[in-house]
Amino acid sequence: SFYKALDKRYEKMSYRRCGNSGLLLPEISLGLWHNFGHVDEFENGKQMLQTAFDNGITHFDLANNYGPPPGSAEENFGKILKQSFLPYRDELIISTKAGYLMWPGPYGEWGSKKYLVASLDQSLKRMGLDYVDIFYSHRPDPNTPLEETMSALDLIVRQGKALYVGVSSYNAEDTKKASKILKELGTPCLIHQPRYNMMDRWVENGLMDVLENEGIGCIPFSPLEQGILTDKYLQGIPENSRAAKSSGFLQSDQVTSKKIKQAHKLNDVAQNRNQSLAQMAIAWLLKDERVTSVLVGVSSEKQLINNLAALDNKLFMDSELEVIDAILNN
Ligand code: NDP
Repeated sequence: SFYKALDKRYEKMSYRRCGNSGLLLPEISLGLWHNFGHVDEFENGKQMLQTAFDNGITHFDLANNYGPPPGSAEENFGKILKQSFLPYRDELIISTKAGYLMWPGPYGEWGSKKYLVASLDQSLKRMGLDYVDIFYSHRPDPNTPLEETMSALDLIVRQGKALYVGVSSYNAEDTKKASKILKELGTPCLIHQPRYNMMDRWVENGLMDVLENEGIGCIPFSPLEQGILTDKYLQGIPENSRAAKSSGFLQSDQVTSKKIKQAHKLNDVAQNRNQSLAQMAIAWLLKDERVTSVLVGVSSEKQLINNLAALDNKLFMDSELEVIDAILNN
């Protein structure tokens, strides 16, 4: 049926400037890694995207390989775009990436110019778009000169196929080098997409400082540790969960008893703040102003609405932060 976005969609969401750029991103963005493939229910995906946009989530994050099968999240997103969002294209920030295995042979993964340019062309076709807003190098390639990967990003912008570029999962040192190369080329690095959540804090050891110094925004992925930082696994592994599904990237053996014990204690802290654990995990990331947007995944509209309410309480007392650190150091 015909979709019309809510008139009040911009009333509650806050937007943060992405590094030193002109671009503002919503404090919560939606990722399509899981739950939007051909193995998933199309109508559910469409509902989640509409609800997201109705609540001021202007940024949707994709990659060439999201599915399964690879490419199907972009295909489904393209369909939903056509059905619901084309009148709103200029209100949307759509990103995609290339870096992981996408097609056979020597040009189907990593960071060569050959792969990045061809992959983005394929992504644009699948989504039915002329350009994406952000294109990422999805992972560092130890065997391709950084200059080549960065000049491919610069080329893509000059060709008009992306407005901005970013990198994902690059370490602090490579990010600094990449940023320097991109500045020299005249296409500054807009954003870095690292794995970051209460349980995985590697970015605090140098990367966040590089991003601040270079004027690069930050959009943490897997902010809920794929669901472990929610109430989902507190009583075991439920059937309808990522850890239980064969297509899920969270393996049941990653849901360790240590992590679940920590989640129980964190859940108590969240309850004292009148928040769900998922809400607290999102708010915890947003306490750092260098974090531009928190990139959540959801499998239902209900989860999305729950996560959006994180924005109602983003303040932490020092004592709360200390308790959280103590729980996670054990
Ligand atoms: P999260 O850590 O947010 O995990 C999402 C999962 O958590 C959901 O699928 C759901 O699990 C569960 N969940 C979410 N909200 C709730 C809630 N309120 N209550 C209970 N459970 C909840 O993020 P993802 O790992 O999905 O990553 C988010 C996005 O980041 C991806 O979609 C992608 O865009 C990006 N990403 C980028 C990577 C990169 O290399 N650059 C790598 C990985 C992700 P369930 O399905 O079991 O219900």
